[in-house]
Amino acid sequence: VIDQNLKKKLEKISSEISYHNDLYYNKDNPGIADADYDRLVSEFKELLKNNPGIIIKNNPLNIIGGVASELFTKFNHPTPMLSLDNAMNVNDLVNFEKKINNFLKDYDDQIEYSIEPKIDGLSINLIYIKGKLNIGATRGNGQIGEVITSNVLTIKDIPKKLKTKSPPDKIEIRGEVFIAKSDFQELNNTNSGQFANPRNAAAGSLRQLDSSITAKRPLKFISHGFGNLESSTNKTYYSQMKEFKKWGIPISPYLKTCSSIKSLEEFYNDINKERSNIPYDIDGLVYKINDLNLQRRLGSAGKAPRWAIAHKFESESAETILEKIDVQIGRTGSVTPVARLRPLNIGGVLVSNATLHNFDEIEKKDIREGDRVIVERAGDVIPHIIEVIKSKNKKRSNSYKAPKKCPICGSKIVVDDEEVVIRCSGTYKCEAQIVGRLKHYVSRNALDIEGLGDKQINLFFRKGFIKKYSDIYLLKDKSREIANLEGW
Ligand SMILES: [Zn+2]
Repeated sequence: VIDQNLKKKLEKISSEISYHNDLYYNKDNPGIADADYDRLVSEFKELLKNNPGIIIKNNPLNIIGGVASELFTKFNHPTPMLSLDNAMNVNDLVNFEKKINNFLKDYDDQIEYSIEPKIDGLSINLIYIKGKLNIGATRGNGQIGEVITSNVLTIKDIPKKLKTKSPPDKIEIRGEVFIAKSDFQELNNTNSGQFANPRNAAAGSLRQLDSSITAKRPLKFISHGFGNLESSTNKTYYSQMKEFKKWGIPISPYLKTCSSIKSLEEFYNDINKERSNIPYDIDGLVYKINDLNLQRRLGSAGKAPRWAIAHKFESESAETILEKIDVQIGRTGSVTPVARLRPLNIGGVLVSNATLHNFDEIEKKDIREGDRVIVERAGDVIPHIIEVIKSKNKKRSNSYKAPKKCPICGSKIVVDDEEVVIRCSGTYKCEAQIVGRLKHYVSRNALDIEGLGDKQINLFFRKGFIKKYSDIYLLKDKSREIANLEGW
């Protein structure tokens, strides 16, 4: 049964939103403060969500700037969104410049390049008509993308209106939607680790049918280009991007220009070193011919422009800071050192821990907390530290000392004579060891208990449901209590 009063209320709010949209988008004369408008919209969304039976005709949330923008309908990019050729080394860059010089035979000046980091996110195309955001679309295959306007509108970095009195009639602004590394970790903590890396999280957040979910995700945007420019007076890519910035469009803080392969290489090395300090994942740098007229002359070959190239970072190893050395206690009491790293993306996976193998290894490589280290990840094995990057002018922390007592149970740590491993001596009182043995027991005996994995054993142990092996078989009696646990 549909509550008619509620339906009337929703229709009233709906027409109120439509009225304000019209003032804002079509009459350029907002009749309400942004915060009040946002409040109105969120009340509307909340009521709609809680009353799925009520259908509102001409739902203003599905219409933007007077144009219906249904989510995920196909969208033909006015100018194709090309992909970039990759350079893996300096030789590739030299060849890139050689080809350009061959193509521009009559051009004798030194070629100038723009440089910016290549963010590992999702490329989107934003169409602004007379300065107002009209359509947001995914890149898709570069020719045809999908409309995601209502989701794009929830991203705070993306202005609904360009801050300029004389906007172009129509402009396509391209950029990357992404999630910062710290936001990703927080998001994954609340979503029980559902995403492998920030890029996947950004993609999943952008492709939501329900824009209110997208709105809750910490999506960010940085512009990295544009489609055809008809009316611009800017002669270079750099100056056009700087103008975007004035319009309220975020651009890369690292954007700069230079005039030789040698300086491209220097900047590449600098950024590669700084990677772990950059708040979002990057997988290389993009170099473009700065002169827009030369870009037009060069055009594209196949799907890639001749005037741009992506210089990729080697994906298997990267530098970061070792923030802390922790120890893990295994089921046999073995004490294993673990490196807690400033998170970094290696080959598409966000890495925040690395194994240190054993204490001899730490001593041999002289690894200390606070060190800058090179981390390697090969296949799906646990990442490890290859070496410490020592710098003369940086004071290091003291040499790492293995703990004398177990951090879990406080028992004395003893050294095995024949092995390099050291152990916690609290065999029967150390919770880390007890839980480790329970996990081992379940996996070794292939107990076919649905949903009983490492995570559940940790939880049941903490709750006191399992203290010893036999308790596992009594879990059935606890089913009512288990059902009441969070996330069960
Ligand atoms: Zn212990």
